[in-house]
Amino acid sequence: MSQADILAAIAAERQSQDSKWGEQNHHLIEWLSILMEEVGEVAQAINEYHWRDASMANIRKELIQVAAVAVSALESIERNYPSADEE
Ligand SMILES: [Mg+2]
Repeated sequence: MSQADILAAIAAERQSQDSKWGEQNHHLIEWLSILMEEVGEVAQAINEYHWRDASMANIRKELIQVAAVAVSALESIERNYPSADEE
């Protein structure tokens, strides 16, 4: 997978998130909770790959979700903390 393919996969995941849940505007603490949940799913996928011969595909999927959630959090910050750019 090239970098362009990876970034396209992250963009597609972002679109999928918006289709499922609409625009998300959470408090930073809630974003932290959502992001850490997704990171935990990466850890689970890696453990399953290492210990139980699970597929690499699930690790890729979960990492893309982590990246997409991070992008979504950044979008939310842009909408909800407009003065943050001035800091
Ligand atoms: Mg996940």
